[in-house]
Amino acid sequence: MADSAPATPGSTLRVCALYPDLMNIYADRGNLIVLERRCAWRGIGFQLFSSSLGEPLDGGEHDLFYIGGGQDRDQRLCAEDLIENKREGLRAAAARGAIVLGVCGGYQLLGHSYALGEEEIPGVGLLDVRTVREDGPRLIGNVAIEASLDEMDANAEERVLAGFENHGGRTYLAEGQAPLGRVLKGYGNDGRSGVEGARTANTIGTYLHGPLLPKNVWFADWLISRALGLGPGELAPLEDGIERQTHRSARQAAGV
Ligand code: GLN
Repeated sequence: MADSAPATPGSTLRVCALYPDLMNIYADRGNLIVLERRCAWRGIGFQLFSSSLGEPLDGGEHDLFYIGGGQDRDQRLCAEDLIENKREGLRAAAARGAIVLGVCGGYQLLGHSYALGEEEIPGVGLLDVRTVREDGPRLIGNVAIEASLDEMDANAEERVLAGFENHGGRTYLAEGQAPLGRVLKGYGNDGRSGVEGARTANTIGTYLHGPLLPKNVWFADWLISRALGLGPGELAPLEDGIERQTHRSARQAAGV
């Protein structure tokens, strides 16, 4: 890979993984590896921290917070801890513009709640969404969406995110809450609305596993730039032959 790409001097991406031991299904930890590699290839520093059950969270110390997908059982444990130990830190981080990225179960926890029958698992309320586990099948399969990331300096192909979804919960956006994108193939938030994920400034939730970033490295770069406060085009390009092929086959799997 391009190890001679110009560095972005002096910058270090500081990433905090939330509950990496519990919220990590479908190889979601691969997302962290992609961030690390793409920084290293450009000479950008990378520091990975984690915060799990019972550990505090300092919202001022990291540029990107990441929470992956999980089983309902693990989500329950994390939800309690998130409210008790991390909600304020996470809110402060989002308010100062840090990236907060949640995948699937992590996305659900960034909303207000996840209702399973009588039970309601609370979320941190950074996204104005509610998730409900309704009767009906799990929403499973390959998925592709057209992301609406307005500040993006990219061609049309690069607006597509491809991945895999598997969720029992259906997520509903409040009026005024922007989705992450429009479903091209697959179920998305609820299998009906035609939209997927949610985004408020730098807080982003999505159902796309697979994992998300290895299949969509353009999006990894978008996250890195924003987390470091760089403008479009300021990240050195990499030789992405294999990565583009991976993206194409993920799209093909979804039929797009
Ligand atoms: N437990 C959640 C659901 O079934 C999230 C699943 C996941 O992260 N894949 O909806």
